[in-house]
This record gives sequence, structure tokens and C-alpha cells, in this order.
Amino acid sequence: MTTLSAALRQAQAQGLDRLDAQLLLLHALGHASHDRAWLLAHDTDALPVATERRFAPLVARRAAGEPLAYITGQREFFGLDLEVSPSVLNPRPDTEILVEWALAYLPLSPEPPMAVLDLGTGSGAIALALKAQRPGAQVHAIDQSEAALAVARRNATRLGLDIRLSQGNWLEGSSERYHLIVANPPYVADADPHLPALAHEPLQALTAGAEGLDDLRAIIASAPAHLHPGGRLLLEHGHDQATRVRQLLHTAGFADIASRRDLAGIERCSGGRLSGSSPVSIQKMPAVALA
Ligand code: GLN
Repeated sequence: MTTLSAALRQAQAQGLDRLDAQLLLLHALGHASHDRAWLLAHDTDALPVATERRFAPLVARRAAGEPLAYITGQREFFGLDLEVSPSVLNPRPDTEILVEWALAYLPLSPEPPMAVLDLGTGSGAIALALKAQRPGAQVHAIDQSEAALAVARRNATRLGLDIRLSQGNWLEGSSERYHLIVANPPYVADADPHLPALAHEPLQALTAGAEGLDDLRAIIASAPAHLHPGGRLLLEHGHDQATRVRQLLHTAGFADIASRRDLAGIERCSGGRLSGSSPVSIQKMPAVALA
């Protein structure tokens, strides 16, 4: 007879860390991931053979490098339980910093409501986190991938969060304007040595040209035409791209350009406010300001 604790030890012997082993065992047992206390209290219980049969292949997949979220099909992000699949990027805790930053620009109940866009929404993580925190905001999320949109749609429905989802290539073909645009676009260089470690995630959500800047460049260039005067663009980017992204924002006419650090202390998000020199604000600027 195998006990729960023996099964956990066996999984750790195969290279899993303790937390992953516990979460996979809870999944195999049909318990929620927050039930770790139950697991500890029942560690001498016998593991039913059927559960053992379910658990073994899960352990093998994790040992082969598959992200836990794809094995369990779920991931917690900003307090929300999200469905994830290999069609979407596995939401990272670092991206919660982008959400925190965006929330700083979203008052609790502004009149009229603020229009927010999440570009390349994937599982819907950023858009849904913003909607959960700011129910009054009009949140729109775009993704190129229909498979990703299906995941985002299921998440929105299950969480009861009313966001608008549409298919598109960044802002192409849209004439809408927003108060805030956020994105965690693909930003890994095509030949980045870290890519093999990300082999389970959709390449389309990861890579963006030789320097990993192609999508960031496209978004920054097109964003001013889709922001209200004074609107903000906030972007996640690679560990070595902050200087380049700030330059691109400057060239596109953004002001108040700043960066935020991730949990490892690396500049991971940059953004700015659409400056007064944008076509929209020039018309509004009093003549004296131009003298
Ligand atoms: N942060 C991810 C990684 O480097 C990449 C995410 C992205 O390209 N947007 O693992």
C-alpha cells in the first residue's frame, strides 16, 4: 500500500519540488489547490490505486519540464483562478506588476467610465484582473489567436467578468480610442537561448524578431492614434529591453516615460503618457503655449 506521503516522496525523488508534487497530488485526488492543509493532515492515508495511476503520468510530465499550469489546466493570477492551456502563455507573477501599475491609473469609479485595452490577452489574465478590480471600467481585450480567445472567453464567463473580446492583429483596422492600453506582447528574441526552456508555451506568444522588439515596436508606433489625449500605454518587455522601449516611447511622442521592476529587481515594464504634442492635443493647446 502506498500512502500519500510516500507518493509525494516518490515524486520528489523524480525531481519535482515539494510544492509541485503536492499540487499535482491534490489535482489527482480531485481536491482544490488550496487544500494543502488537508494533504498534510492525511499524509498517512492510503493512496487509492486509481489515484496513483492518475498521479504517475502527471509527475512524469512535470519532470519532463511541462509547466504545472498546463498539467492542471489552471493558474492563479492576481487572485483569480484562471483556466490555461498550451494555446496561451502561462501567466507569470511578474505580470501582476503590470496590473498593479495599470490600476494606479484607473480611479475606482470615474465618470465617464474609462476605456481600457489589453493587447495580446492570451488567457485574459491582465484584462480580467483589471475588470475584477475596477468593475466600472470598459475592458476590451484583443488577441490574434482564436484558440487563446476561446480560453479567455471561458475565463470571463466562469468568473462572471464582463469584458469584450475580439480577434485582431494588435491595433490593425481599429479606429477606437482608449484611456489606457496595456500589453504583455511576445518579446523574446528568435534565437534566445532560453527558448528551449519555454518549449511548452506557444511560440507565437513568445518570440518577436531578431531582437524580440518587433511587436513592442508595432504596438508603440500605433498606440498614439488609439489613445485619448493624456492616455497611457504600459508594456511588459524583456530583461534587457527597458532602454530601447523607453526610446521607442519617446520617439512615438510619449511623455512621463518610466519603468517598473519585476520581482527579481529587473526593469520589466515601461510606459508613458501620450504627450501634449500628439495631434489631438495640439488642436486643444492654447496659442500662448505655442509662442
Ligand atoms: N516572460 C516570459 C519569459 O521570458 C516571456 C513572455 C513574453 O514574451 N511576453 O519567460
